[in-house]
Amino acid sequence: MGTIYFDNNATTCTAKEVVDKMLPFFSDFYGNPSSTYNFGTQAASEVDKARSRVAGLLNSEKEEIIFTSCGSESDNTAIMSAVTGFPEKKHIIISSVEHPAIRNTVFFLEKNGYRISQLKVNEKGMFDTDELKKIITKETLIISLMWANNETGTIFPIKKASEIAHKHGVLFHTDAVQAIGKMPIDLKLFKDIDMLSLSGHKFHGPKGIGALFVREGIKFSALLHGGGQENNRRAGTENVPGIVGLGMAAQLTLKELKNDIKKISVLRDTLEKNIKENIQRIKINGSITNRLPNTLNISFKGIDGEALHDMLNAKGICVSTGSACHSGEGSPSHVLTAMGIDSKTAGSSIRFSLSRYNTIKEVETVTAQLQEVVLGLRKMSPFEF
Ligand code: PLP
Repeated sequence: MGTIYFDNNATTCTAKEVVDKMLPFFSDFYGNPSSTYNFGTQAASEVDKARSRVAGLLNSEKEEIIFTSCGSESDNTAIMSAVTGFPEKKHIIISSVEHPAIRNTVFFLEKNGYRISQLKVNEKGMFDTDELKKIITKETLIISLMWANNETGTIFPIKKASEIAHKHGVLFHTDAVQAIGKMPIDLKLFKDIDMLSLSGHKFHGPKGIGALFVREGIKFSALLHGGGQENNRRAGTENVPGIVGLGMAAQLTLKELKNDIKKISVLRDTLEKNIKENIQRIKINGSITNRLPNTLNISFKGIDGEALHDMLNAKGICVSTGSACHSGEGSPSHVLTAMGIDSKTAGSSIRFSLSRYNTIKEVETVTAQLQEVVLGLRKMSPFEF
């Protein structure tokens, strides 16, 4: 049996169209975009086209896009730009389910005198906007909330949260790394978002490239200092193949998004239905109503998620026991724990995340294999199920 890849929130395959677009920029058109001869300016012009394509996906202006190396760099840049720009404000608000790219950035700042508030979430992974209002103070510098959660797929009410931030004169950043390519995003309709992070490898672009949207007029300070690339906002010779690939991935996403959402949600819903019908004592984690179309996070009572993961792996099925970025740590997921899920239930959870390249046949195979493995593991258990 070949590989069945159901871990698209960890990373996605690079679309063939993207690879084809990138290849000549390694071998034939390898000029430095900063060079002033034609061989360089041609590369600069391709970078510019890619910037327009990324802006097109977000419905933003191309000048509002800064290319970075990944989602983590975009997140770090957003937070550190706020810190540098407004040193008098020392309070930062995040949610308790943010990705480590945000968590560990603000925890670093906490060691350096900043006060961090983590907005609580309920059992669906959702926060209360009234709670958000209550924890804002005159000291609050920035609110950073993810658009969609990487582990559960729960979608946050970003429009409302960003409006609250601006009503209180606070900057608003969203980590949209998991939202891009899975839901439409129109930044002309979300005028209170000041900064937004995205990452190429989460929507069929290459690894090693990301972008930060910074709305026109927002005070910005670079994280990387050096040459004047990216209009003095991010130093370092541009990753031209990566940027061109990101541009192509953005263009493809814009074209395919409607169909992708339709197709992928049918696959995910079929997987969910199959599991519900064939496997007892399961619990779906996260919101059912406000959820990414590709994500399904399930706890299997009495099962060790790691064992389940390993047995599926042996059958060529790739899933995650939490966020791939910190799998292997052994401790229960901070996301599920923040939702009030006990450590046993959290430890029995598996995340399935699908893409446009998955098929209904794969869904059927995974259901059958999963049923066999879960029943087998439960039979071996000393407990009754
Ligand atoms: N933010 C979220 C919500 C993510 O899921 C991830 C990666 O899993 C990141 C940020 C980090 O992105 P990157 O891997 O491009 O650094």
